[in-house]
This record gives sequence, C-alpha cells and structure tokens, in this order.
Amino acid sequence: MNILLVEDDRKIGQFVKRGLEEVSYSTTWVRTCQEARETMAEGQFDAVILDIGLPDGSGLHLLTEWREQVLDVQVLVLSARHEVDDRIAGLNLGADDYLAKPFSFGELLARLRCLVRRHTGQKKTVLQYRGVQLDLLKRVVTLDDVPVFLTQREFALLEYFLRNPSRVLTRTQIVEKIWDCHFDMESNLVDVYVAKLRAKLRRADESESLFQSVRGVGYKLL
Ligand code: CA
Repeated sequence: MNILLVEDDRKIGQFVKRGLEEVSYSTTWVRTCQEARETMAEGQFDAVILDIGLPDGSGLHLLTEWREQVLDVQVLVLSARHEVDDRIAGLNLGADDYLAKPFSFGELLARLRCLVRRHTGQKKTVLQYRGVQLDLLKRVVTLDDVPVFLTQREFALLEYFLRNPSRVLTRTQIVEKIWDCHFDMESNLVDVYVAKLRAKLRRADESESLFQSVRGVGYKLL
C-alpha cells in the first residue's frame, strides 16, 4: 500500500509515517503543496493523508487540482478543530474522509483501511499465482497456505511480480517501482532481493524457482 502523507508539522508527520511503516504501508512524507504536487505527478498512491494548513498554500487547493485531473486516489483530510468551515468546503471538493486533530493513530489507521478497502472493493486485493498468495489488505503472504514472512520491500517486489506474471521486468523497472529512485545499478540490489524472495518462496521439492533470470535484462515470474 502506497500512502502519500502531506503534513508540515514535524511531530505529526513523524508520528504518522512511523506508525504507517510499522504496519508495512509504504509512506512518502512531504511538507508543502509544491512537493505534494510533484510527488503525486511521479508516483502512484493508494491514498493521500492531506493536511489543510501548509506553508505554501491550502491542502484544499491541492484537493481541487487533483479532482480536476480526475486522479483516482482516496484522500483523507486532516484538519484542526477550528477549521470546521474548511471541512465543509473539503467535502464539497471531494475529500473521501476527514479526521480532526488531535487524533489517535488507531483511528487514522482504521479510517485509512476503510477508505482503501472501499476503493479497492472492485479491485483485486488478493493476488494468487502457483500456490503463492498475497493479501494486500492483511499484508500477509502464504505459500501453499503456510505464512511466509516478507520485509516491506520484499512484499512490494512480490506484489509487482504477481501483477505482471510472465512478463519480463527489467532491473530498471523494478528499481523505479520498488525503490522509487535511480541509483548505481552496480549495486545489484535487485538481484539480492530476488534471491531473498526465491529463498523464501521455494518449496523443498522444487528445483525450479518461481523467478526466472533473463540474462542481462531482469526477471520474470514463471
Ligand atoms: Ca499544518
């Protein structure tokens, strides 16, 4: 699950980002409207947590822009209690939910899960392939019904493969998708992570790995 957090308050930002990462939601935290605009244009997010009062403008302006662009993303607006009018305005602008500050992390998480579930109601939230099952909402992976523990990156990598079965994914594509950045390709990070997935998703009696190397290019799910 990819979450964009737009919040200029350092304490709230850290608190929310840490909490979301603890439940394995990949979280990008930005502090201004401008950064949010740029990040939204580059990445794909399942939900946005949007503060209203930002240093370079109102979160509600961002919301208007995104709705005009018909962006398919769920937006949870955070607002201070005195911003009641803003909340009403936000409703009209197409926010999907609200949370007044101060809030507990538990409540934020519950609202967020509810939003994403509603949104993904039509989409697949459980991906399956040759005995491997990945549940996006529960963040659980099983191999032949036996739970497999994956780190956040491994989970994201597996999800990417499962969404593209039998397609060759290049190292560059994988890096851009999973690490969201470019870096020195000599580091072989992709190979290291695929090796980890292979090890964790290998059946004792199986010689062939689910992940086939495509020499000089990348990998594909067999
Ligand atoms: Ca603020």
